[in-house]
Amino acid sequence: MAKEDYGFETLALHAGAAPDLATGARAVPIYQNTSYVFDNADHAASLFNLQEPGFIYSRLTNPTVAVLEERLAALENGIGATATASGHAAQIIALLPLMGPGDHVVASSKLYGGSITQMGHTFKKFDWQVDFVDPTVPENFRKALRPKTKAIFVECLSNPGGVIVDLEPVAAIAHEAGIPLIVDNTMATPYLCRPGAFGADIVTYSTTKFISGQGTALGGAVVDCDSFDFNQPDKFPSLATPAPEYHGLTFTETFGNLAYTLYGHAVGLRDIGPAQQPMNAFLTLQGIETLPLRMDRHIANAQTVAEHLDGHPAIAAVHYAGLKSSPFHALARKYMPKGPGSVFTVSLKGGFEAGRKLVESVELFSHLANIGDAKSLILHPASTTHNQLTEEQRIAAGASPEVIRLSIGLETVDDLIRDLDRALAKAAA
Ligand SMILES: *Cc1c(COP(=O)(O)O)cnc(C)c1O
Repeated sequence: MAKEDYGFETLALHAGAAPDLATGARAVPIYQNTSYVFDNADHAASLFNLQEPGFIYSRLTNPTVAVLEERLAALENGIGATATASGHAAQIIALLPLMGPGDHVVASSKLYGGSITQMGHTFKKFDWQVDFVDPTVPENFRKALRPKTKAIFVECLSNPGGVIVDLEPVAAIAHEAGIPLIVDNTMATPYLCRPGAFGADIVTYSTTKFISGQGTALGGAVVDCDSFDFNQPDKFPSLATPAPEYHGLTFTETFGNLAYTLYGHAVGLRDIGPAQQPMNAFLTLQGIETLPLRMDRHIANAQTVAEHLDGHPAIAAVHYAGLKSSPFHALARKYMPKGPGSVFTVSLKGGFEAGRKLVESVELFSHLANIGDAKSLILHPASTTHNQLTEEQRIAAGASPEVIRLSIGLETVDDLIRDLDRALAKAAA
């Protein structure tokens, strides 16, 4: 049976794994192992020269991490994946094959605050240039293109603003320019949205969030959707011209459709070094097994809580694309018909001070900087995750001073509503 014949739930349980050949162990073993014995000297040399696949050293590949990579590629209907130590590492490993000094990315201004800081400040150290544009008008991406633009980067469902990017026209703009569209799909997960079906070429994840789902393992991943032809020597010399350190091997020539993913391992992980830990890959695989079940409950609870808060006397606005009043409701129906995730923001009538009081008054909700945990979470972005941004950037990212971010978990939904009502009453008093 071909892989594409299996349903999402089946792939979430089985893709990339089989009972352990050595022991019959049914769960994926944790290969807590840095290095692997070579058969002989020729075998060692051919592994190092990328002449045959195999395990050398866990900074490059590890059997437990490889299962996670295959599973994520299958869930995304992609050809390959590179797992990384974190979502932020995934963003660097995603861009490294495409970028050289002076190259340029057009990115959405509605990215996760940490991504705006990473791309706007630290990328400059590589001389990678990034322009941020309002993603709600797709033409803005075209206007920002330069001759040295090598990718467009967006979140399809943005953290925390709840903005949904119209992927199809943005993908068309990228492809007209001969560059890939990269989509950070952390907030939706492949269960709610497969960006590749709408023209995205590369998908990145912070698996730290819903994919692992229990707040126990940092991780990230880059998935190649197998739609983009990287064999353009002028534009993507790292992939399409000879690599001196591999004796003049050209990735696109030698590895065909796997060139991008193999570069992620053989150069990205090798030289930047953010390999995912086997233990974290194991924990993340445990999470993925129940991803479809969890996401169904996340979105059902989020919809109920959002509807309850909409029109609540202490609340000025609820920004959730699952509400008909949201300007992004139609795009949500198109791109994530099961539901637009379970992270959303509310604007409090009481402003900044009410926000601070609310996060201190909740009991079930945990006040912390994460999303996508099975447990419900609450945060005041302006004083935390988005604190390093300018006021203007905060407003652009949907993190104004009166905004509270909720990540709705899997608890009994009536308990969540009671907790919020009690805390909102305290914050208003
Ligand atoms: C958390 C997050 C990241 C960064 O991921 P880490 O695993 O924390 O490095 C990137 N993008 C989005 C949308 C996120 O929510």
